Amino acid sequence: RRMKAEANAHQRAITLGGTEIGIYANIGTAEEAYAAAESGADGIGLFRSEFLFLDRDRAPSAADQQDAYARALAALPGKPVIIRLLDIGADKQVPYVQAPSAPNPALGIRGVRLWQHQPELLETQLDALLRAGQDAGPDSNLHIMVPMVTEARELAWVRQRMEARASALGIETLPKLGAMIEVPSAALNAGTLAAHADFLSIGTNDLTQYTLAMDREADALASFADALHPAVLRLIKETIDQAGATCPVGVCGGAAAETLAACVYAAMGVAELSVEPTRIATLKQALRRLDEQTLIAMIPDLLRQPDAAHVRARLADFSLTAT
Ligand code: PEP
Ligand code: MG
Repeated sequence: RRMKAEANAHQRAITLGGTEIGIYANIGTAEEAYAAAESGADGIGLFRSEFLFLDRDRAPSAADQQDAYARALAALPGKPVIIRLLDIGADKQVPYVQAPSAPNPALGIRGVRLWQHQPELLETQLDALLRAGQDAGPDSNLHIMVPMVTEARELAWVRQRMEARASALGIETLPKLGAMIEVPSAALNAGTLAAHADFLSIGTNDLTQYTLAMDREADALASFADALHPAVLRLIKETIDQAGATCPVGVCGGAAAETLAACVYAAMGVAELSVEPTRIATLKQALRRLDEQTLIAMIPDLLRQPDAAHVRARLADFSLTAT
């Protein structure tokens, strides 16, 4: 079965009900974009750009960044490549970024909140992205994604900066701009974000942490910090419903790689799932066998469960043949 899944990895994933789900890859370096393309990725759903910034004394130059982004775009010509703007401040720290120290870094200055203190970080990264997108020409399908968005004004502020830099550089074709949904307020207000966004992507790692108030790094809580918790599922459904038909929603958190969760997200209406490249073939195969009508009918019952264990017990009845 594994051999069969891999043989079909470059074909699209279309469910039994006829819905196509894009299966994208999560990457941390430009080199991984090539591995992703070889694994059958329909796009890059999350390029964690912070890996370019870690373990250094100073921030990478615009030219160094541009080179990395250009290589990622070149690996998947024409396919969507979602590059996330620098997401540091909580679990990841660098010496050249002076985030005000905080007793609770996960609730402090991280992601989009950081750049207001050091706007040159954002401007340099935007310049590198805009130039890489421009150089890739008509084959470029660059998407820029903003981490840790809480409110629409943050996305509007980044768009304003992006438009200002594009006009300063004489670049007319703007990349798509989207927000990560990983804070409960962003999920609950997804409609107001969608009005400012070209796409949304749900980060289940942080969304689970912030919804359940369970540190994603705490081993003692790991078995409870489950993205299949009904409260997290409600927020995901709310996001997709509020985003509507014009703003596609993806999932790029770790749960997207789990077959059962991926099928639930597909049944709720996500456009794409982004996972480690090694999971792509198996996930595509599972989605091709998904009878989503059965799962769609189960969703109200899943949302009424008291905890993740009960959701998993309900889903165990839903037979999956492609794991
Ligand atoms: C997430 O929070 O789910 C996510 C994809 O981002 P990261 O794991 O890098 O915080
Ligand atoms: Mg996150």
